[in-house]
Amino acid sequence: MCASLNPKRTVAELKELRALTDDENGAQRVAFTKTWLAARAWLRQKLEALPLEIHQDAAGNTWFTLRGRSDRALLIGGHFDSVPNGGWLDGSLNVLAGVEILRRIHSQFAGMPPVTVRLVDWADEEGARFGKSLFGSSACSGNLNLDEARALKDNGGILLPDALREIGVNLDRAKESRKELDNAAAYLELHIEQGPVLLDLDLPLGAVLGTFGVERHAITFHGQAAHSGSTPMNRRKDAFLAAANMGREIYPIAARHGGVCTIGSCSTSPGIVTSVVEDCRITLDQRHLDAPALALMLADARAAADRFARDANVRVSWEPLLRIEPVLFHRDLIALCDDAISETCGASRRLPSGPLHDASEMARAGVPTVMMFVQSLHGISHNKIEDTREPHLELAVAAFDKLTDKTMRWLDNPSSHATHA
Ligand SMILES: [Zn+2]
Repeated sequence: MCASLNPKRTVAELKELRALTDDENGAQRVAFTKTWLAARAWLRQKLEALPLEIHQDAAGNTWFTLRGRSDRALLIGGHFDSVPNGGWLDGSLNVLAGVEILRRIHSQFAGMPPVTVRLVDWADEEGARFGKSLFGSSACSGNLNLDEARALKDNGGILLPDALREIGVNLDRAKESRKELDNAAAYLELHIEQGPVLLDLDLPLGAVLGTFGVERHAITFHGQAAHSGSTPMNRRKDAFLAAANMGREIYPIAARHGGVCTIGSCSTSPGIVTSVVEDCRITLDQRHLDAPALALMLADARAAADRFARDANVRVSWEPLLRIEPVLFHRDLIALCDDAISETCGASRRLPSGPLHDASEMARAGVPTVMMFVQSLHGISHNKIEDTREPHLELAVAAFDKLTDKTMRWLDNPSSHATHA
């Protein structure tokens, strides 16, 4: 059935794109730059041979639509933009896999598939220049905060609305992109894992359960500065002691609940070698796929901070920095993704995603969504050493194509799945 699918062509096209848009430091397809626009022009040219309707939406996303017998649309999404000095696969793999799948569907159904199939190249997923990721997909989902976006500036002082105008996008109207989802019935995204889980399991592919929720807080312990020579140990109010105990405690907290916790920064005052620390501020970042478990991790951290503050005879205060709800992907689509992977390479694994993706926005917008991950070598991304074995890339394209096929059938006959939400 998939006789015309050619995963090797996808790998060749990824290399072609790399030759066009990478330099010796890695991928340079930063959104709104000439290189990014050149990549997008190249993409349009790749799809020229197919009878697609192509347009840029109100948020700068490009949509390639193959009309089907039904208006209900299966969406395949990716992003062509990269971070500066980025890797060759982040984002571009899913776009180019989508290109190959459009070719397959077009040839299999003689240009008229049972449902409409649309490839979307999201604008500025990485947020590398303006510091805010998921621009195009969050405008489309309706979650973009326009006031915040209006004030975003790059390092050169250029405002986001001005950069958008250069590509024909009026920020005030960006959320009109939402109408692209009018007939959206499912959203699929293939991505490199960007972490070491599949590598450690020695598996090429995995089905993604959803994206982590985040609780990020600053915790400050308040003690008393005192001379390091004249103050006996039992008379100290040592803010650093309490903070240091937190550093150890987050490991059992994460282990108990199955999430991840990070203390990413620590600053002390007065911060001199001859004084007990008066104030110690640390940041705590906690992530979990399950909202109640995330709440428990936070409650455990609060209880531990209180305990360590008491033990060290100091006070503790908390300041919230960021809160993101976990996003769960669609049950039926996760099962189809698992099946597609097992049929392609024998074994599958379900795993959560640490990073956010455009798929999170589609799920938040209510579109049944799933992602497929392919193993990342070194577990590294956003770096020119980002890589995936070529046989794994080919398996990824083949399995993702199978998932597309299964999803089209699922859309054709949703009543056979009681869990369709
Ligand atoms: Zn990405």
